[in-house]
Amino acid sequence: MYALAIHGGAGTIARAELTPALEADYRAGLQAALAAGRRLLAEGAPALAAVEAAVICLEDNPLFNAGRGAVFTHDGHHELDAALMDGASGRVGAVAGAREIQNPIRAARLVMEHTEHVLLGYPGADELARLHGLPTQPADYFFTQRRFDQLQQAIAAGRMQLDHAGSAPVVDANWKKGTVGAVARDQHGNLAAATSTGGMTNKRFSRIGDTPLPGAGTWADAEVAISCTGNGEDFMRAVAAYDVSCLMRYKGLSLAEACRVVVHDKLAPVGGEGGLIAVSAAGELALPFNSGGMYRAWCDAAGEERVAIY
Ligand code: ASP
Repeated sequence: MYALAIHGGAGTIARAELTPALEADYRAGLQAALAAGRRLLAEGAPALAAVEAAVICLEDNPLFNAGRGAVFTHDGHHELDAALMDGASGRVGAVAGAREIQNPIRAARLVMEHTEHVLLGYPGADELARLHGLPTQPADYFFTQRRFDQLQQAIAAGRMQLDHAGSAPVVDANWKKGTVGAVARDQHGNLAAATSTGGMTNKRFSRIGDTPLPGAGTWADAEVAISCTGNGEDFMRAVAAYDVSCLMRYKGLSLAEACRVVVHDKLAPVGGEGGLIAVSAAGELALPFNSGGMYRAWCDAAGEERVAIY
């Protein structure tokens, strides 16, 4: 028995903007990433390999805000954050602000397996990736017209950073966000989580969100694995991912109840718009969100597959 869930970011996804063609592309992208992870789990591979494979697939897809499709910073480049955690061993690796690494999640794994550290920032993260022969890419690989237009829109609206949020009408509340992630329970009962993001459109001053921070945007232990998406600052303040684990471990809450408390009772009241995906050691899944939607797909312990947006 194994279980897998993935997400492609949460936000207020305006139904009117999601044309049938675009929706089909999103669904196909989620389906492909789910299949990549599922194939490995079916073969008996570790959860860690499955979440990494699913996230690589989403990083390579320009539709999602991670890797190739990452949003632009205020200065017009890309700063990529990613983390990956192994529940069985508690080992974790992460990178923040990487600029050239094609698949930041692979660099996070390098940090975990080839250094004594947990989190490396720019430029060291890129340096480590190059040293180990991970593919790097020139800036134009990360250029997508849609993201560039979003940056122009953000600059024009004066939404320079989070402190200006609310100062201008939100044209498309989803323009600034997005993240990808995966959680898995493998056939041996081990869990893993992986999250990767370009962060927020128009971010400045080397801003780093919750994604690469163990406990905030990514967490895995022996009982639960979690990957978050949403307003990173709120998820960091809430230590959202680890809180799910704590509520289960110390308060005895079920997976579903712990996730509900964090997403709806804790994050929502402080403006922490977003959601998370989680899997327990028993193979139960939870994919709650308090935003208009969350791109997501899962394969439950019974082998049932689903893709959903709203
Ligand atoms: N959590 C990500 C960040 O704050 C963004 C997102 O998930 O939409 O960088």
